[in-house]
Amino acid sequence: MKRAVYPGSFDPVTYGHLDIIARSAEIMDELVVGVLMNQAKTPLFSVEERVNMLHIMTKNISNVRIESFSGLSVDFARKEGAGFFIRGLRAITDFDYELQMSQTNRIMAPEIDTIFLTTSLQYAYLSSTTVKEVASYGGDISNFVPPLVEKAVMEKFGYSRP
Ligand code: ADP
Repeated sequence: MKRAVYPGSFDPVTYGHLDIIARSAEIMDELVVGVLMNQAKTPLFSVEERVNMLHIMTKNISNVRIESFSGLSVDFARKEGAGFFIRGLRAITDFDYELQMSQTNRIMAPEIDTIFLTTSLQYAYLSSTTVKEVASYGGDISNFVPPLVEKAVMEKFGYSRP
């Protein structure tokens, strides 16, 4: 049984994340998306809201499960009995951080390997941070996130559509 954990903030989930989820679900028997409750960051969406949006967005993929976690990703992966982490790589700027994190995780949990999927080109520029920045000025984020997420983000910034 090949089980992987895909950890992240998903604040909010974008088409880039959904692409990584769909592609890694094809490789794995089971994919657990781990939504991080990070005390250090103040998220736009509560962990329940993020889990809920991911849940709706992945309901058609039968081997994907959404969970929340706090603390170390390695502890979460062990609790889930996962042998792999999934991470997405967009640009060279992701690489430094991701390499360091995967090597640190490997020292802490040698039995868990990290699999990197490179972004699909059409999502290479996309991040939750830029989505929030565009939305905060009332910009159009419909190319970046699914309609339900778009509505929720715009509402958070006080823009509601009829
Ligand atoms: P974190 O706070 O852990 O960076 P994110 O939700 O921003 O959480 O990202 C989770 C994972 O998804 C990371 O591995 C990140 O590189 C990847 N990711 C984010 N956006 C994209 C994208 N557009 N294409 C591919 N991977 C992405």
